Amino acid sequence: MDVNSKTILLANPNTRKKPNPIGFGFFRWQIDPGMLSCVIISHLGIFFSHRLLKKSPMTQYQSMTVTRFDTGNFFMIEHNAEEIFSFMPVAPNNESFYDVPRLWLSPGWVDLQVNGYAGHDFTDPNVSVEDILAICDCMLNDGVTSFCPTVTTQGNEVILHSMETIDAACRQSSLVESMIAGIHLEGPYISAEDGPRGAHPRPHCRTPDWEEFCKFQEAAGGRIKIVTLSPEYNDAPAFTRQAVESGVIVSIGHTAASGEQIRAVADAGATMSTHLGNGAHGQLRRHPNYLWDQLADDRLIGGLIADGHHLPPEVLKVFVRAKGVERIFLVSDITSMAGMPAGKYDTSLGAVEVLEDGRLVVAGQRQFLAGAALPMNIGILNLMRYAGLSLQEAIDAATINPLMQLKQATNFDELPLDGDYCLFQCIHDEDQQLKEVRVVATIKGGKFRPTNYETPSDILEAQKKLYKPF
Ligand SMILES: [Zn+2]
Repeated sequence: MDVNSKTILLANPNTRKKPNPIGFGFFRWQIDPGMLSCVIISHLGIFFSHRLLKKSPMTQYQSMTVTRFDTGNFFMIEHNAEEIFSFMPVAPNNESFYDVPRLWLSPGWVDLQVNGYAGHDFTDPNVSVEDILAICDCMLNDGVTSFCPTVTTQGNEVILHSMETIDAACRQSSLVESMIAGIHLEGPYISAEDGPRGAHPRPHCRTPDWEEFCKFQEAAGGRIKIVTLSPEYNDAPAFTRQAVESGVIVSIGHTAASGEQIRAVADAGATMSTHLGNGAHGQLRRHPNYLWDQLADDRLIGGLIADGHHLPPEVLKVFVRAKGVERIFLVSDITSMAGMPAGKYDTSLGAVEVLEDGRLVVAGQRQFLAGAALPMNIGILNLMRYAGLSLQEAIDAATINPLMQLKQATNFDELPLDGDYCLFQCIHDEDQQLKEVRVVATIKGGKFRPTNYETPSDILEAQKKLYKPF
């Protein structure tokens, strides 16, 4: 590595506590020659011990510089084609450092609402373990390292089969188990009214039934972590209390409930709103209505589908402002239609249509959407360009905020070598307007996973000019 008077190496954060983030103020720090040589020797040691143990050819050993999405600090990742060896804090050594396009590093993205992908559907009556493995691959491809398979309104047998199959997939594959943060049961205890029920089949919409839910939970091996219900049923508050006591998050959605009914369920422990603003009537009384009631209740954290179709840009902005950035999280609500060409399809939610513009609608009309078909990077992009969020706030909505709902801590401060990460680029047009958030690589449990993209050669070439390899 090129070390000059302005370059400072810090101890590996995996073995030594990282200093407090200081933005770009590295230049003010003093070099401790003793510490510097120790760090270089220890990293050479790590490098050669890894190579001896793994017998990886020299050509596979690489490094790249990434920027933390939250602090803006730079890290060099030492890795081969499969795994990470170390994260090493580095500092800019000249002004041209800042001209190199950034590779951003964030925790792996988290999606609490995934119905399926590429023809595979969690609520398909014939869903198999292989389908679930295929969906996990698709999610990794999109930068998502944790997600909630979402099983939607159906008859008892279909839901039981889905639960058993997801549980079996977790038991058969440690990768699947590590990716599935819990099952989201969206329905069947939702409104049967047209509009609120969305594309969920009316005959199967029903009142909350705790005994039935317990059978679903048993079939799922206890993996159901979220249940979406409508508070409009008399049994909803009692069901909510039992679910919350058992450790399940209750989320309000697909509802035609009154404000009083919504408050009763929130009083009973409901803490989330499912895809707020969708699964609603085409026309609503101006006020009061169930959108204002949920927007105003600070106990309810709002899931948002920010694909550009489910919520118009103005609505997305207003919802984000109303709830506050800490009280929102991003979901894709992606379905088996993701990645499919335009046309009509039969799905577990009945006949749907993929339109040329990417919208997924209930077949035969254009008003009611039937889920989404665009991945998380689009939602992150739209939170920044439509709702005015910073990169950090938008990524929080796709990582820390949903993980906090699941009460799953991240250890991103320490950058563990076996952690989950997403590497991505923010791409601007000629007018410097953000036009794309592109996943470059997904790292799951410290291992690189395939994505559709390769690390852009222009970035690596530019980085090579700034660093000499070991
Ligand atoms: Zn829904």
